[in-house]
Amino acid sequence: MQNEVDVLPCSVQESPDCLSCLNHTNLICRYDPADLFHFFMLFLPLAITAIGGAIVSGMGVYLWYWLAYAIFFFFIWEANVLCSHCPYWAEPSHVLHCNANYGVIKLVRYKPQPMSHSEQVQFIIGALILALFPIVLLAIARQYLLTGICLVSALSFGYLLYHDICDKCVNFSCPLNHVPGKNKAAYLEKNPGMKQAYEQAGFVTDPIQNDPNTTFGGAK
Ligand code: SF4
Ligand code: SF4
Repeated sequence: MQNEVDVLPCSVQESPDCLSCLNHTNLICRYDPADLFHFFMLFLPLAITAIGGAIVSGMGVYLWYWLAYAIFFFFIWEANVLCSHCPYWAEPSHVLHCNANYGVIKLVRYKPQPMSHSEQVQFIIGALILALFPIVLLAIARQYLLTGICLVSALSFGYLLYHDICDKCVNFSCPLNHVPGKNKAAYLEKNPGMKQAYEQAGFVTDPIQNDPNTTFGGAK
């Protein structure tokens, strides 16, 4: 019978040997309130511009639709296609503790295999709807300056997310993930259950370089 250490990814084990690990400073692989704060600081300018802009331009009532979609996206859609494949999701808890979607209630089981291509496409479409909603709202209200500011905030958030976080995230099959191959390989070596599920799905990790095929290679 497998024990907890074999089954749970090291990201959610009680006390893995992080200090001697190659990825200790290379990955965002343990929940850390400072990383969660960093993520919210990246998102804050977009949230302030979108909410403030919609209220100032008389479109505030439509923010309820945005909120409803955000709840659906984070708790149902994104949770199912993206986060349920993430090692953080494997924690034996009904609530997600990670550095971005902290607090989401887990309605689906952990899936150690990588995301399928369909799930990758769904995640991108869902995230674009979430980001574009307030921008389109402001454009409809003919608040072109606010639309531009909101667009720049969204682009800035996407850029900082991609460059500061997606190169360290342990959800390797996310279409935005670009962790170097050697760090991915080292993480999978520490987590044989996840490695086996990735290999069975045909997800190849090149330990020598950051292979773009690996970055976008979901399960077949
Ligand atoms: S990869 Fe696992 S063992 Fe290594 S630092 Fe991250 S959580 Fe710790
Ligand atoms: S994919 Fe990102 S947001 Fe989802 S559980 Fe993993 S770290 Fe959190």
